[in-house]
Amino acid sequence: MKTIESNPLPTVQDPDLAPIREKVLRGSRLTIDDGLQLYGTHDLWSVCGLADLVRRRMHGDVAYYNVNRHLNYTNVCALSCHFCAFARKRGDEGAYEFTIEEVRAEARKAVESGATEMHVVGGLHPWHPFDFYIDMVRAIREVAPSIHIKAFTAVEIVHLARISKRGRDGADGIREVLQDLRGAGLGSLPGGGAEVFDDRIHDEAFKGKIRADAWMDVHRIAHELGLHTNATMLYGHIEGRAERVRHMAILRSQQDETLRDWACSQGHGSDGIVVLTGPNEQYSGERLPTMASCKTGWYQACIPLPFIPDDSTLERLHGPSGLENLRTIAIARLMLDNIPHMKAFWIMQTLPLSQLMLQMGGADDIDGTVVWYDITKVDGCGTHQETGVEELRRLIREAGLRPQERDTFYRPVHRDGADWSIE
Ligand code: SF4
Repeated sequence: MKTIESNPLPTVQDPDLAPIREKVLRGSRLTIDDGLQLYGTHDLWSVCGLADLVRRRMHGDVAYYNVNRHLNYTNVCALSCHFCAFARKRGDEGAYEFTIEEVRAEARKAVESGATEMHVVGGLHPWHPFDFYIDMVRAIREVAPSIHIKAFTAVEIVHLARISKRGRDGADGIREVLQDLRGAGLGSLPGGGAEVFDDRIHDEAFKGKIRADAWMDVHRIAHELGLHTNATMLYGHIEGRAERVRHMAILRSQQDETLRDWACSQGHGSDGIVVLTGPNEQYSGERLPTMASCKTGWYQACIPLPFIPDDSTLERLHGPSGLENLRTIAIARLMLDNIPHMKAFWIMQTLPLSQLMLQMGGADDIDGTVVWYDITKVDGCGTHQETGVEELRRLIREAGLRPQERDTFYRPVHRDGADWSIE
């Protein structure tokens, strides 16, 4: 089998990047200072070259996509985060709330379209009781028994723990809520609501929302319960590059903890550090955790999300440029050496830039066919944001990669129209 090291190794134009290149070639962990240097260099293409080496070590020439359906069940939210253009108060123009019957209808459409996953998130509805959320998950499970339900950001989970009225809060309440939701059909958690792990930024831009420690608690408990999760980073608003690199280092450190036992059992991480990006791999994916080998859940993917200022109260900001988006995902790939997948979320990155990220920015996943996405709208797009499988596959092939449909756990999907099975 061919190894990536038989391809020419990337060089760097900026001599200051040479020590980082050496680390990447060796498979050594990068420091926060390294991350800052990758942001500071003019030599973006060398940063991308290193990220692409790592991506090819981990995933070979495969690029993943999935057939999914997003459901934003309400935009009514008790909070008013400055960067949010999605939330409304009840009675505001454009405010909406799905009923359980409407959720059921969405699940039916997901089945008809051949989706393998429903991605369900919404605002923190001030009046829905906890049972509404259980009923919603059950309704999807009844209508779509084979579809994976990825639902509720950590922020929503904390909200549900508060309203579940068990007389418990903190970790016990979160654990009980996750167990109840899992009992109803929840399969994993998405990565939203992380924003940027920094208390100053938090208090300025999304005060009222949970802070980093609570967000991490939800994901830690989910992992302990065997639920997989993802992790996002919303960047390009009032944070700086240093806060982004620290955010990556915090996620990496939590993943170290999550994977420690597995890593020791596999002969990785004897020093407590789990690096999955090193050389000498027979790609793809042989050093990555699998459901058979690792009993806990873990962060499957990181999804850097560029801030889109339109219609938010931070509209005065211009948001990150295309080059900054490319640089950020490449740095995330290099820094997050223990998170298997790096996702270019095309809804927010746009399809053309996502294609570039797959080819040279370290991304291995372009997310899915989506259909309905109401959280952000790029360049005036409506809420009906949909791309077809053929379009995704074409973009991936044009990037020189091999398209592979995946399920939520990155297992290959065998498809025949709307019928599908896991290979
Ligand atoms: S970001 Fe989430 S919690 Fe904040 S206002 Fe928007 S929907 Fe509500």
